[in-house]
Amino acid sequence: MMMKHLLSLSRDSFKKYFSSIGEKEFKATQVFEWIYDKKVLDSSNWSNFKNETREQIKKDFKNNMIKIVKKEEDDLTKKYLFKLEDNNHVEAVLMRHDYGLSVCVSSQVGCNMGCSFCESGRLKKVRNLETYEMVEQILLIEKDVSERISSVVIMGIGEPFDNYDNVIEFIKVINDDKGLAIGARHITVSTCGIIPKIKEFMNLPLQINLAISLHASNNELRSKIMPINKVYSLSQLLSTIDEYIAHTNRRVTIEYVMLNNVNDNENNAEELISLFKGKNVYINLIPYNETSHIIYKKSPKDKIMKFYDTLKKGGINVTIRKEFGSKISAACGQLRSKEVK
Ligand code: SAH
Repeated sequence: MMMKHLLSLSRDSFKKYFSSIGEKEFKATQVFEWIYDKKVLDSSNWSNFKNETREQIKKDFKNNMIKIVKKEEDDLTKKYLFKLEDNNHVEAVLMRHDYGLSVCVSSQVGCNMGCSFCESGRLKKVRNLETYEMVEQILLIEKDVSERISSVVIMGIGEPFDNYDNVIEFIKVINDDKGLAIGARHITVSTCGIIPKIKEFMNLPLQINLAISLHASNNELRSKIMPINKVYSLSQLLSTIDEYIAHTNRRVTIEYVMLNNVNDNENNAEELISLFKGKNVYINLIPYNETSHIIYKKSPKDKIMKFYDTLKKGGINVTIRKEFGSKISAACGQLRSKEVK
């Protein structure tokens, strides 16, 4: 069996582990107190554990850390490049909002979804991140800035629903009040639209926000820029979103990256209105972060504003995402891709 990492288990998984070694289930809570409250990862120091159990934990778990190898920052953003144990790299971004600090974490090394505008997809998926590699992105950033992270978005490198089990375990760890205690409403997972996983996700007893990367207002255009649409079509995705809303009674975020002359004309706005009018969603218009490798250009500001106005007049809840860190190659796989080339 591959050795697990102490930061890879939710409290429920620790309970199962402890019953498997003949220990009491409440030990799971004590482990969480040592790790996430006292920040003591070496089980030798866990004074309320029997010697024998401490030794067993040492045999069964590793507690190494990933490393920060590069930082870039501007006023509101700090970008981190992490080196994993096997020398792969991933990145995370810290953002300062008036309501607190949020971190955008990566879920995979590379990505296989192949969205044509996205830098992360240029480098194919090497592997999934383990749960601890996601937890550590947050722990290391908290340590670096000596401040608490109050919200997390899983919108860095990778497709979280292509690494579903590890991502859900990660969400359980950070959401746990004995873990990082980040409220469910402050956690958002973003997917390009892997329908079977969206269905699984809606049945979890977690109040996590769901964001869908839509980026196109009709099926043909979506298939052109997002290969996943050839597997799960726009109409299937839309009915899954309806099902999600009916089942959870939660609002869904629709992400729409504004690509100049690709998806940003008035016609596209009208199509979006007919898709979403009266539904419990809000559309987040994302100014495109241009990269040196990819042909797309960002939509000009006035075009974004016009698009916004049209949606608003059409009765759609809409916001424009604040631009963070475009000066520091902040968005989406750019730091890693400089490193990997
Ligand atoms: N794979 C997931 C999450 C990672 S990407 C998903 O597809 O949702 C997070 C968001 O950033 C997605 O909406 C993605 O389409 C968008 N994105 C990718 N490249 C971008 C760029 N260069 N500028 C702005 N947004 C980008």
